[in-house]
Amino acid sequence: MAILIDGKKISEEIKKELKLKIQEVKDKTGKVPGLVAILVGDNPASQLYVSSKSKACNEIGMNSKVEKLSSNISEEDLINIVNQYNHDDNYHGILVQLPLPGHISEQKIIETILPSKDVDGFHPVNVGNLVIGNDTFYPCTPYGIVELLKRYSIETKGKHVVVVGRSNIVGKPIANMLLQKKDGANAIVTICHSAAKDLNRYTKDADILIAAIGKENFITSDMVKEGVVVIDVGINRIEDKNSKKGYRIVGDVKFDEVEKVASYITPVPGGVGPMTIAMLLKNTFLAFIKSLEKNYGYIIN
Ligand code: NAP
Repeated sequence: MAILIDGKKISEEIKKELKLKIQEVKDKTGKVPGLVAILVGDNPASQLYVSSKSKACNEIGMNSKVEKLSSNISEEDLINIVNQYNHDDNYHGILVQLPLPGHISEQKIIETILPSKDVDGFHPVNVGNLVIGNDTFYPCTPYGIVELLKRYSIETKGKHVVVVGRSNIVGKPIANMLLQKKDGANAIVTICHSAAKDLNRYTKDADILIAAIGKENFITSDMVKEGVVVIDVGINRIEDKNSKKGYRIVGDVKFDEVEKVASYITPVPGGVGPMTIAMLLKNTFLAFIKSLEKNYGYIIN
């Protein structure tokens, strides 16, 4: 039976560590980190994500603001608002909750955010830095996965990591992060996607399997080898008449059967999900520290 990788517990530990650091810096400088979340329209899932992010900021002593905008806002007006926050020293991190309404180019908006405030790590400058192994803001979900592997002392060096999914927010960045010649990485990485003719051929060889597909219970026990480490990124809603909400959340991995052959596995919920917010807070704290160093010459150890 696999050991459960408890993302909820680890994310709480990270938040506690950050809270202490924030207090320490506040005592020295009188300043605290700030995050602005820009929410366009009234998509319920986006509203929920933004309010959990903002709540998490407040819990650890960060300033947070939610800028709520109408779904009719023009691309030009949104660009102007992002630019306003680019120049506002109270906010060290800017996050634009995706998806945006169809008439706005997400890429244009992402590219408007200053790379030094891009705490989601989606700006092409930060993506480029990630690929070449420079210091950067790592996208929060992949960053959370790397942190989980580290905190559970799961060796990645020389291991075969198979990533199923090649999105810009999960698949590509996690593959690139684990490929780096660095501690906590240095893996042999394969990326699979929907054009794979025989997916099992790849997944069966994985020492570490990362599923970021968006299809419920897709990875089954016959697709993995004994002892594999399984990271399930999927968040899928399935109907559940027994639940109050009428649905429940499941991952991309058929947990009940895969946990019997895996050595480690992340549950859904409670695995990768909570780590995403924790790493967003970490990125905002890092952006804050960098701005203190740059603007005030503070050196924080
Ligand atoms: P996405 O953009 O929809 O990408 C899905 C990927 O899966 C694509 O690359 C797709 O291939 C691949 N795929 C689909 N069917 C496949 C198949 N039959 N065989 C092999 N590959 C297949 O999804 P995403 O944004 O990366 O998200 C993936 C999942 O993670 C979703 O459930 C999402 O909700 C969840 N998620 C969770 C968090 C978190 O905080 N825990 C954060 C982000 C996302 P093609 O490229 O060929 O289409």
